[in-house]
Amino acid sequence: KRNVLIIGAGGVAQVVAHKCAQHNDVLGNIHIASRTVEKCQQIVDSVREKGSLKTAGELQAHALDALDVEATKTLIDKTQSQMVINVGSPFINMSVLEACIQMGVAYLDTAIHEDPEKICETPPWYANYEWKRKQRCADKGITAILGVGFDPGMVNTYAAAAVKEDYFDRVESIDIIDINAGSHGHYFATNFDPEINFREFTGRVWSWQNNAWVKNKMFEVKRTDDLPVVGSQTSYMTGHDEIHSLSHNLDVPNVRFWMGFGEHYINVFTVLNSLGLLSEQPVLTAEGQEVVPLKVVKAILPDPSSLAPNYTGKTCIGDLVKGQKDGQDKEIFIYNVADHEEAYAEVGSQGISYTAGVPPVAAALLIASGEWDVSHMVNVEELPHRPFINLLNEMGLPTRIKDEQGDRPLSF
Ligand code: NDP
Repeated sequence: KRNVLIIGAGGVAQVVAHKCAQHNDVLGNIHIASRTVEKCQQIVDSVREKGSLKTAGELQAHALDALDVEATKTLIDKTQSQMVINVGSPFINMSVLEACIQMGVAYLDTAIHEDPEKICETPPWYANYEWKRKQRCADKGITAILGVGFDPGMVNTYAAAAVKEDYFDRVESIDIIDINAGSHGHYFATNFDPEINFREFTGRVWSWQNNAWVKNKMFEVKRTDDLPVVGSQTSYMTGHDEIHSLSHNLDVPNVRFWMGFGEHYINVFTVLNSLGLLSEQPVLTAEGQEVVPLKVVKAILPDPSSLAPNYTGKTCIGDLVKGQKDGQDKEIFIYNVADHEEAYAEVGSQGISYTAGVPPVAAALLIASGEWDVSHMVNVEELPHRPFINLLNEMGLPTRIKDEQGDRPLSF
């Protein structure tokens, strides 16, 4: 399969475009589409400026409203794309997936579908949307890889590696820990779209414990870990896409997700949330103007993509896996450390976008090679983990493992 259509033109799309360009000898022509063609053109210009294209090949920007299935189908056809990497807002997933199914092309995304009307979806998340299309994908032989960013994405592969390799006889728990120990230098900013970012934290927190869904409040449950490179870090139990698919696909009784927040972030977030400024419900001003508080907050916060040039520090994201081996309790931590400044130097984006944007391109390469061209819909943990980890070791996201034998690179 060749020729890639990238949908979306945000921070993650920028990374996807650069990485596709670095591998265009395999991936073929590259097209980038979002509603605002100028944003796509900026990405095209940045790829050209950095000289990221490996060989001469098409690289073009297009205007597309991806909620319009017919328009998306037309663009897939016009560009002769055989793979679509959807890194647009999660509101467009089901429309883009529909266009891919109808056109018979491969589909990849990095986040679960969201309904703009619903602030907090209740599990089972994938079953509410994407998985309803499983049968149609299988019937038409469509390869659809869901949630192939970092988290979800790489962390699903790490979970699969922990369960399927010979580390454990029995896995008791998978705790996914996501720490951004970087600094952007602003009083307050979100690393990606504030609307999407806050939605993760304003609702209930769901986790999979003792083979059942458990509900908590945000910032109610926390842990502190001494992690490689980033040191002692506190993280809070958070609901996240991959908890659902991992709990469904791997026979592990406890799957939880933890995201690191500084006290300052929590204080500002708590004030905004308590005042109602994160609400998506419109309010009337005294002058009779209708405003959506969350949209106002988004408008005044720094644009997440503007954070990249001055971002310093590192991220550490990984899976802490506990279980038993040969009758003994055992734990391993499989993880990656990424550097904001290195990401910016290579592709002009901050580290969060980098960690999210490199894996879908590795996945596209594995579809092109046939290793991941499975002709049905899957989550990442259902695919062979070895080629993915090995490929990402070479593409800028090296995996490491820490266990009783020490802390070392992981490859197969
Ligand atoms: P941005 O908000 O920066 O970009 C989203 C893009 O979607 C915009 O460029 C927007 O462009 C485009 N878009 C929105 N609506 C439409 C539409 N109807 N048709 C076409 N394009 C549209 O997001 P990020 O780049 O930060 O993130 C992209 C995706 O990656 C998100 O789904 C996010 O949740 C996910 N993500 C996943 C991570 C992971 O590790 N798995 C980590 C970080 C992000 P325009 O306005 O021009 O249409």
